[in-house]
Amino acid sequence: MTKRCYNCGIKMSDLTKVNRTKEHIPAKTFFVGYPIEYKDQRKTVPACRICNEEFAKIDDQLRDVVGILNNGDPNKSELTKKSVKKILTNKKELTDRITINQDSIEVTFDKLILDSLHKKNFKGIYSLIKKSHLSDDFKLDVYSAGNDEKKLSLGAELRSEMEKMGDWEKSGHEDVFKYKMCYFDLKTGTLKPFEESTSDYIFLVAALEYNKEITAMVVAAKPEIQDI
Ligand SMILES: [Zn+2]
Repeated sequence: MTKRCYNCGIKMSDLTKVNRTKEHIPAKTFFVGYPIEYKDQRKTVPACRICNEEFAKIDDQLRDVVGILNNGDPNKSELTKKSVKKILTNKKELTDRITINQDSIEVTFDKLILDSLHKKNFKGIYSLIKKSHLSDDFKLDVYSAGNDEKKLSLGAELRSEMEKMGDWEKSGHEDVFKYKMCYFDLKTGTLKPFEESTSDYIFLVAALEYNKEITAMVVAAKPEIQDI
C-alpha cells in the first residue's frame, strides 16, 4: 500500500528523503521524565516535514496541561518542571495565560490549539489502524473539557459505550497514552471496534487518554451522516 503522510495525505514516495519524517503519536514530550521502560514501543506514523513541523510548535501546549494538572505523580515531576519553567520564563506566556486572583493563580489554555492536537492524534491513530490517511471529506470535532454541557454529556455517553468494547491500545506505556477507535455500524446501529478491514464507515469516534490526566473524545463524520 502507498505510504502517505498521516495528516495531509501526500505520498511519501513523492518526497525527497529529507522531507520524509515520522511523527510520534502522541508527541515525545508526553514521556519526558517517565522511566525508560515507559518509552518502549511508542508508535509512529509517516509524516511529511511540513506537517511534522507544524505540530512541533504547539505539541508542548497539551503537555503543559498535563504538567500543570499534576497532582503529585512523581513520574510527572519532570513534565511539571518543564511546563512551569516555560510559562514563567516567557513574558508573553505569562501575560497571556496567567491570571493572579486574590487566593488562586489560574493558568489558561487555548482550547483551539488543544483541540487541534487531539485531532492530530486522532489522525495518527487512524493511520496506525488503516495504514493510510483519513480522507479530507471527514469533518472532525473534539469533545473535551471546556465544551458546553451538551457536547460533554454526548462525549461521556460515547465514552461509556466504548468502555465496554475491547481493549485499549497504547503507545509506549498505557499510563502515558491509551486510545480506542470505533465506528458506527449503519446496519446494526451500534458502535463497533474500528479495524484495518473495516469498510463503509462514515462516522468514527476515538477515546484518547493522556498521562491518566486528560481525556478527549474525537469524532469524525462524513457529511452523508446527516441524511441518515
Ligand atoms: Zn503532511
